[in-house]
Amino acid sequence: MDSTHRLVPLFTSQQIASRISELAAEIKRDYHDRCPLMLGVLKGSFVFLADLVRQLDFPVELDFIRVASYGAGQETSGRVKLLSEPVAAVEGRHVLLVEDIVDSGITTDFINGWLKAKGTASVKLCALLDKPSRRRREVGVDYRGFVVPDRFVVGYGLDMDEKYRNLPGISVLNGE
Ligand code: 5GP
Repeated sequence: MDSTHRLVPLFTSQQIASRISELAAEIKRDYHDRCPLMLGVLKGSFVFLADLVRQLDFPVELDFIRVASYGAGQETSGRVKLLSEPVAAVEGRHVLLVEDIVDSGITTDFINGWLKAKGTASVKLCALLDKPSRRRREVGVDYRGFVVPDRFVVGYGLDMDEKYRNLPGISVLNGE
């Protein structure tokens, strides 16, 4: 795709699909009678959210929140900006935040604060990937797909300068 980067496969689409089935079973156990508002964090979570909701056979609602923290690099700027809030009213709702990856935790922490200020009934977090070694904010991941090492990963919705989101699996990006 880009000759300056080498992609080293980490999780295949089959591995991701089977882990998502397990996560869906956990989510069903907790939310089957609560019609959660599943809130995807754009853009990275769009593939994960689409696959996850199709494994849920009970009523859910969907919306998106869009934030920016990284700019064009691989390091968080430490500042999060709300680019677009959900259209749905979140007040009184059981919100399940759906993220591609929790790294420093700064993004999640910001969104949690924003949601709580809006008066949600509850907020839990479902993250496909978790990089706990990089944490700078304490963030509880209630439903976790995979723990990943401190490497920059792409694919399955995750980008590097907007590239690679379309890859069906997840790879480590090596080199510059
Ligand atoms: P945090 O605020 O937890 O440091 O970062 C959250 C966001 O940073 C994620 O939603 C994602 O967009 C981006 N991010 C963190 N680590 C990675 C990574 O390894 N690969 C990619 N593509 N994005 C990452």
